[in-house]
Amino acid sequence: MQDQLPDFRLGNVLATSFTATLTERRGNAVERIPTPQRLVDWLVVNGLAVGGCTTAQLEHARELREAIHTAATAIATQDALPATAIQIINDCSIQGRAAAILTLEGNRQWQLGTASVEDALSVIAADATSIISGERDGKLALCASPTCQAAFFDTSQSRTRKWCDMNTCGNRQKKARFTANHRKNGTTGDS
Ligand SMILES: [Zn+2]
Repeated sequence: MQDQLPDFRLGNVLATSFTATLTERRGNAVERIPTPQRLVDWLVVNGLAVGGCTTAQLEHARELREAIHTAATAIATQDALPATAIQIINDCSIQGRAAAILTLEGNRQWQLGTASVEDALSVIAADATSIISGERDGKLALCASPTCQAAFFDTSQSRTRKWCDMNTCGNRQKKARFTANHRKNGTTGDS
């Protein structure tokens, strides 16, 4: 059963990895956290282990996810920030408790106040704020795939990244272009 659930699309940025738990928003959308347990799994993978998750908390998490997606999209398209989305992000940030912990190896870890979903969401909301506010080095952009259009954080030197993920959207586009060229060349050859 667990094997049949969609896998996670993980990137280097917590907030956009989180928005990538719903992919192909403009096509056949894939929900990658379809159950409370899958949200727990996702949080564990991202260093935010929680004690458990209810259906209401999963809905709350998805609400935050869509708020981040909406706000990040507005920045990428240079539109005004939507007030509702900002409110949701801020509420989530305020509602949880988490502390940044430095390990002896010099890594940063999160210590959640009560190991609740709310604590974890506050970390994600704060991460979203850091990229939406522009305080972090990088640029929010939208994936060039028409069925995806996910907001991603471009940290490439030239700031010209086109795809949310090279292994999925980027690869698919490359393959499509290859097939199209192949066909075109084939037709030219025949005539
Ligand atoms: Zn994409």
